[in-house]
Amino acid sequence: MNDLLIVNGVVYIDGVWKQTNIGIKDEKIVYLGLDKPETKEIFDASGLKVIPGLIDPHVHFSLDCGTVISVDDFSSGSRSAAYGGVTTIIDFVDPARNAKTLEKLFYERLQIAKSSNVDYHLHGCIKEPDGDLEEFVLKTKNLGMRTIKLFTAYSETRRRTYDKDIYNLLRLSKKHGIMIECHIENDDLIKHDDNFLCTDISRSRPSECEMTETLKLAQFVRETGGYLYMVHCSSGKTLQALIDQYFDILGKNFFVESCPQYFLFNDSYLGKEDGYLFTFAPPLRSKEEQELLIKNITYVNVIGTDHCSFNMADKKSHPLLKDHPFGIGGIETSFLLLHKMFGDQIIDKMTKNTAKLQYFSQKGTISLGKDADLVFLKDVPSYKIGKPHGRADYSIYENLELNEKIEATMLRGRFLLKDEIYTPIRGELINCN
Ligand SMILES: [Zn+2]
Repeated sequence: MNDLLIVNGVVYIDGVWKQTNIGIKDEKIVYLGLDKPETKEIFDASGLKVIPGLIDPHVHFSLDCGTVISVDDFSSGSRSAAYGGVTTIIDFVDPARNAKTLEKLFYERLQIAKSSNVDYHLHGCIKEPDGDLEEFVLKTKNLGMRTIKLFTAYSETRRRTYDKDIYNLLRLSKKHGIMIECHIENDDLIKHDDNFLCTDISRSRPSECEMTETLKLAQFVRETGGYLYMVHCSSGKTLQALIDQYFDILGKNFFVESCPQYFLFNDSYLGKEDGYLFTFAPPLRSKEEQELLIKNITYVNVIGTDHCSFNMADKKSHPLLKDHPFGIGGIETSFLLLHKMFGDQIIDKMTKNTAKLQYFSQKGTISLGKDADLVFLKDVPSYKIGKPHGRADYSIYENLELNEKIEATMLRGRFLLKDEIYTPIRGELINCN
């Protein structure tokens, strides 16, 4: 007998909306069809659309930014996630220089991540490698991870990885079937000035930083046949240049992640009175670049949020760019805002594509045998976004209008969110092997 049968919903399967019932047993989807197999419980989804649980592949909970620690920890961050329909999050191991340190840092981060109330995973992360790179890759896989994040920037805090190592990591990504996730900005073109205010961030890190470094790495990918995942593409010009010059590898070996903030805002917001709240790296771009990014949404494979939230006072009390905490929250509103903007094409970019690129075999689609992670959507009269349900006291998305809401969020067959009530569930670590 099934544990639960969801009836009367309109369900997103293989890119189309279908009227089908969903049977769930032992946390998995075990039935799809119009019959009503025997079940302990029934949930009536009349008037609701059902999509797979969303995966946010880019969050920073409890991140120590030097001057401040990001305010959402795994517990409050996953509460915010549940309100946004996100049932799986991926955070990052602190950057390590070699395999031995990676292992140590992995278990340290895992200890913190265990308080997650959605399913979770960690990306491996490297900086200034001082050990054997192949050993690093094998250790990553051995720990259940298939992604290694690196930064081409931040030499000032010794987090940069240099070209020779990036090139070799890309070669190894092909050999061992892993993904190299890159924060791409040309480190040498970033302008450092102790007098810059936080709202000078777009001047400090102009879009040519992203564009020139991205094209170089795309060439590395073409030469090596490796796998690169560009995190948080912010610049429409960069994406257009990839389409024009690297169409052959785009979506095949070179994958693009972007974030809601780059579609919804532009650098004019930094000039407003509360501009200090719109600070993150890479920063907001011009209106023209924003429009170009929107126009080329087809070539964005995955949406992440880079959720790294702070309170207003954390931002305001560090007005100088050099000690300002970069980052914003956004996990709770990413889907609804982008669904409104782009329609159903955004669904795969937050579910199926993400699961595939992150090597998650149990997530991302509503199909037999997968985890019963589901989001129930409801069309509602227009309303304004309020305060987030995490721990931050603001969101840059407040007061934007939506006409759809997350009616319920289900993780492995259990409701995390239903009837406006959040019921924490113990999240599970996803192993990618
Ligand atoms: Zn990030």
